[in-house]
Amino acid sequence: MLAEIVDGRALARKVVEDVRAGMASLDRAPGLAVILAGDDPASHVYVNGKVKRAREIGFNAEVILLPADTTEDRVLAEIAALNARDEIDGILVQLPLPDGINTLRVMAAVDPAKDVDGLHALNAGRLSQGSGGLIPCTPLGCMKIIRSLVPDLTGSHAVVIGSSNIVGKPMAALLLDARATVTQTHIHTRDTQFICRGADILVSAVGKPGLVRGDWIKPRAIVLDVGTTRVAKPEGGHRIVGDVAFEEALHVAGAITPVPGGVGPMTIACLMENTLTAARARAEARRSVPRSVAEKAWLA
Ligand code: NAD
Repeated sequence: MLAEIVDGRALARKVVEDVRAGMASLDRAPGLAVILAGDDPASHVYVNGKVKRAREIGFNAEVILLPADTTEDRVLAEIAALNARDEIDGILVQLPLPDGINTLRVMAAVDPAKDVDGLHALNAGRLSQGSGGLIPCTPLGCMKIIRSLVPDLTGSHAVVIGSSNIVGKPMAALLLDARATVTQTHIHTRDTQFICRGADILVSAVGKPGLVRGDWIKPRAIVLDVGTTRVAKPEGGHRIVGDVAFEEALHVAGAITPVPGGVGPMTIACLMENTLTAARARAEARRSVPRSVAEKAWLA
């Protein structure tokens, strides 16, 4: 029996519909700003996709383009300006940043309330404690896919290949929070293949085409292929491929996300959801200011 091929586009449409419906509770459209530094072609494609989708939904979306030789100070100044603008609810700094710019320092500069990529240490800390906060979009999207297939993960063994701050680590935290037993592997892990064979849920977030072979997969496992690598086509142009040997996996897994059309659309949809979440939380915080002033006056 062949694996179910997960339709990430259809799931993403559902998330976006919910975001559209959720906007009704706001008195203005959410505002999203993306900082894009340098001329990495893949980053430009990703940012265009995000901004296009945001505008389609009715968000106000803007891109701040910076040259490849931009300085960390310039990026930090742009972030400070966006932090100060009330109509901006979400700030996303497209990674990777040009060489010489410290990603962690840049992430630390984003107002945690506007950190729609969930990379600020405060949001990462909240996630590791299971105490709310904004969650990185790709793992959030992966969790929605997994939940659509297996509503209860209690006792499942989940293996996450890759341990980056943006995908691997938050993915493992979310799975752990969902009561799975989680194993995380990375480039220095020995015998990744053996570990993967025990996985009921296997998430690969590496960026190495064909890394996960059919015989790495437990029969009927759920396989999420996060990897996206641009490979040149013989006829010119590029195509995007995942980490999993798809044809092999199809004959073993129970369900698998394709590349493209699996995790990617959910990442964008979850960025929209995070921006709405941030806009709502900020609107709520604005509403509570007069109340606390009144409380202070009453107490005085
Ligand atoms: P990264 O380079 O920061 O991290 C890669 C991780 O893979 C590291 O933890 C590294 O130790 C591990 N790794 C490398 N080689 C390995 C190997 N042979 N075996 C096991 N682990 C190995 O990358 P990232 O930002 O986490 O992204 C991972 C992949 O996911 C990339 O292809 C990226 O383009 C893709 N991605 C896709 C989406 C999406 O929306 N589909 C979003 C984010 C990232």
